[in-house]
Amino acid sequence: MTTSPGPSGYRGRFAPSPTGDLHFGSLLAAFGSWLLARRAGGRWLVRVEDLDPPREVEGAARRQLDALHAFGLEPDEEIVWQSRRPTLYEAALQRLLDEGRAFHCHCSRTDLATVSGIHRRCVARHTRPDPAVRLRVEDGSVVAFDDAIRGHVEQDVSREVGDFVLRRADGFWAYQLAVVVDDADQDITDVVRGADLLDSTPRQILLQRALGLPTPRYAHLPLVLGPDGRKLSKSDAAQPVDPADPLTTLRAAWLRLGQAPQALAEARDVPDLLARATTAFDSSRIPPRDGAPHEMS
Ligand code: GLU
Repeated sequence: MTTSPGPSGYRGRFAPSPTGDLHFGSLLAAFGSWLLARRAGGRWLVRVEDLDPPREVEGAARRQLDALHAFGLEPDEEIVWQSRRPTLYEAALQRLLDEGRAFHCHCSRTDLATVSGIHRRCVARHTRPDPAVRLRVEDGSVVAFDDAIRGHVEQDVSREVGDFVLRRADGFWAYQLAVVVDDADQDITDVVRGADLLDSTPRQILLQRALGLPTPRYAHLPLVLGPDGRKLSKSDAAQPVDPADPLTTLRAAWLRLGQAPQALAEARDVPDLLARATTAFDSSRIPPRDGAPHEMS
């Protein structure tokens, strides 16, 4: 793919799955990743992660893109749709299979329940016509990285996750494989997203190493929790954001990112608000903790 780095070389992205309308938590990820890219003088891309048709909601991708437009968050390059890129994932998977780093696996969820759900060797009782493909995770695969917001993160992927799925038994591509292939293909230098994906990052780093791809920098934004203390989720039909009232929502997201409230108080419209936000944004104020929308750092 032809990409252009932008003057600073920084390339960020927002990668929503179309499993529902944008809610406040996903808007926070969009706005946060946009602000960090703008502040760095970089580019900001949008990638629709539409690889899981059973979980997709009809029309959600279009509504998410319309909402981003209403919030003034315009991608700097053409939008990428994962459903149109199977050949890229196929090539990466084939390479891992050829090199013996990935293997076909007939284990079902029930089989794995006998070993705490963590795959270290096949325990399948039956062969399936449609085996999944997993990455072989060597014993002692401890992955550490420094997150720009959360600090030092370390995970023993072999013990805590095990050999993980790259292509599912139902034939769909696993998020972990597609995200790694696409971040590299789009030359993403900075992955900024919700902290619900913090746990996936060590798997993605292992996969980058297995494929000989560079590891981007990571920043995981605080999660927005609902009144029950759980993360808001698009598929739970959590409160969608109201694109008809972008100023109120952007101001609320700005506060949740720990930023100075007065900086946007006098913004007249969306372009004016975004211009003020770009000037005033201070990434060191982003709180490393999750919380309800009204909670401050
Ligand atoms: N598609 C994922 C989601 O909507 C985000 C993936 C990512 O940012 O790496 O939760």
